Amino acid sequence: MVQVIRDKPTNQNVADKGIFPFVPVRAFFEQEALEYPVGRKIYDTLKDMGIETKFTGSHNRISGIPGKTAREAYHEGKRTLVVGVRKTLDFQTCKPSAHFQLPLVTGCPGRCQYCYLNTTMGKKPYIRVYVNVEQILDQARQYINSRLPETTVFEGAATSDPLAVEPYTGSLAETISFFGRQGKAKFRFVTKFTNVDSLLKLNHRGNTRFRFSINAQSVITAYESGAPGLNQRLEAASKVAEAGYPLGFIIAPVILDEGWQEEYSQMFARLGRLFGAYQHLTLEIITHRFTPKAKQIIRDVFPETSLPMDEEQRKFKYGQFGYGKYVYRPQEMDQVKNFITDMIHENIPEAKIEYLI
Ligand code: SF4
Repeated sequence: MVQVIRDKPTNQNVADKGIFPFVPVRAFFEQEALEYPVGRKIYDTLKDMGIETKFTGSHNRISGIPGKTAREAYHEGKRTLVVGVRKTLDFQTCKPSAHFQLPLVTGCPGRCQYCYLNTTMGKKPYIRVYVNVEQILDQARQYINSRLPETTVFEGAATSDPLAVEPYTGSLAETISFFGRQGKAKFRFVTKFTNVDSLLKLNHRGNTRFRFSINAQSVITAYESGAPGLNQRLEAASKVAEAGYPLGFIIAPVILDEGWQEEYSQMFARLGRLFGAYQHLTLEIITHRFTPKAKQIIRDVFPETSLPMDEEQRKFKYGQFGYGKYVYRPQEMDQVKNFITDMIHENIPEAKIEYLI
C-alpha cells in the first residue's frame, strides 16, 4: 500500500483511492500553467479533492505559506504544491553520475531529517512541478544531439523525489517514454516512494534506471517521516525489476546507531531474498555526514532529533564543493566498509557497487 501523507482531511473519495502518496493542503498556480493540459488537469484534480488553490505571479516567489517558527515554516512548506512553467531551460550539470539534471520537479513532500534538500530549499520547502514537460524534453533532445555520438545521461532526482507527485503530473511517464525512443541517451532517478504502477507498462527499452533509496528499517522509522517503509519500497522495486527496468539501490545515509550491524544485516538479507539472482543491480552507499549549516537547520526544524551529529565523534573533511563536513572517523569507516562489502558478497553477489563512501 502506498502511504498517503495527509495533514488535513480532504475529499476522501479521491484521496483514498491510494494513488496519491502526497495530498497538499494548499496549491499555488501560475496563471500560465493552466494553458497547458497537464496544468489544467492538476488544477481540476485539486479542486475535486477540495484543496485550497490560489494564483501566484511566479513559482519562484510564493507568499502566503504560513509558519512563524522554523518548524512551522518547514512543515507548512512541505504541505504546499506549486504548479508553474519552467522558464530556464539551461540544464545544470550533474557530475559525476550524469551529464545533466533533468528539471521536472523541485522539492519533495517527504520529511527525512537528514535530507540534502534541507539546506537548499529555503525555510518553506514547497514542492514545485513544471507543466511544460514537452519543452523540457525538447531541450533534452538538443543536449543529446549536441553530444552525439556519445551517450548523454540525465538525472531526474537531483533536486527532488519526482515519483511522489507523479499521479498529478504524469511527467515521469512522459519522460521514460521519451527516453525509450532515444538511441543515445539514458535517464535515471531515485525515489523513496512506491506508486510505480503507472510506469510499469511503458516502453522504456532499458533506457531508464530506477533507483530506490532504502535504509535499515530502524533508520527509516527514526528519521524518514513521510516516506514509505522498507517492505513497501522493496515491493515496488520488485515490480520495477519485473517490468524489465534496470534497477539500483542507494543505501543512504548509513547511520551507526546502536545495533546497526544487526539492522543492516536484516536489510541485506531481505535484499538478498528478493534480488539475490538479479544480474544488473547497482548499489550506491553513502555513510552519514553533516555540515554545520545542516546541523543548525535540523536542530531548528526537528528539535527532538536523535540524529547523531556530535562533532567530537567525527572527522572534519573538506568536500569537493569547498565546504567542510563531518564524516565518520577512519576506524569506523573501515569497519562499515568491511561489514557492508561482506554483506553484499553474501546476499547479492552479482550486484555492482558503484561507490561506498
Ligand atoms: Fe529528501 Fe528523499 Fe526524504 Fe524526499 S524522500 S525528504 S528528497 S531524503
